[in-house]
Amino acid sequence: MRKKLVAGNWKMYKSAGEARDMVAALLPLLSGDADVVLCPPYLALPATVEACAGTKVGVAGQDAFWLDEGAYTSQVSAAMLKAAGATHCVLGHSETRGRFGSADLPASQVAAFAETDETVNLKARACLRHGLVPIVCVGETEAEREEGRTDAVVQGQVARALQDIEPTDVARMVLAYEPVWAIGTGKTCGPDEANRVCGVVRKAVARAAGDAAPGACRVLYGGSVKPDNAGALFSQTEIDGGLVGGASLDAQTFARIIAAA
Ligand code: PEP
Repeated sequence: MRKKLVAGNWKMYKSAGEARDMVAALLPLLSGDADVVLCPPYLALPATVEACAGTKVGVAGQDAFWLDEGAYTSQVSAAMLKAAGATHCVLGHSETRGRFGSADLPASQVAAFAETDETVNLKARACLRHGLVPIVCVGETEAEREEGRTDAVVQGQVARALQDIEPTDVARMVLAYEPVWAIGTGKTCGPDEANRVCGVVRKAVARAAGDAAPGACRVLYGGSVKPDNAGALFSQTEIDGGLVGGASLDAQTFARIIAAA
């Protein structure tokens, strides 16, 4: 039986002080035995690590560069995250893949900085090398879903993200199925369909890494998870918890989602 995991992606919200206040408010509300991970912006990461010290709450970077150091202005490496006390790292989020939703950039601009399946793979390998658990996001856009390409898109993203990673390492990883059309939009994928696609993700993990890995590796659902839909989503057989954005910013709300796991 895989343990549930709920990760809160704070995106570009919360200063170091706000992160400390959030952790102080959240810790007394935690119930149940699900694993919990907080994903603060880089500048709030050390404060979050400090506030979570001695608790079961892990801390994730929201991205990581694959080389340890070098002339890569603006980047933060997996090695640096590990040294700062992080335990996990989110990779391949639709926003770091360049799909910013309301920012609505033209494709020509997105291509200049968006990460690809190949960079997600390099980053996952760097995280594993440094003892961080990668949380790799995959998911289709609304157009891809309408074209009936959901399964193919997700299978391709998983296969490329896991390329050349040892099955024992894959077993430690977390995959998050995050339909792009459901992120920050209030539109949630229904529990049955979310469960079905998480099953597709797990089968793709088996194809990439053999049968032992998918039994151990956790597959989360993300996309407008809220206290009132978390129970129905997390009780599905293929869904091992959630990657939660907007609803993880408030301690009471996030604690109710954690309790549902
Ligand atoms: C996310 O940021 O990964 C996410 C799923 O956001 P939201 O819960 O706000 O849709």
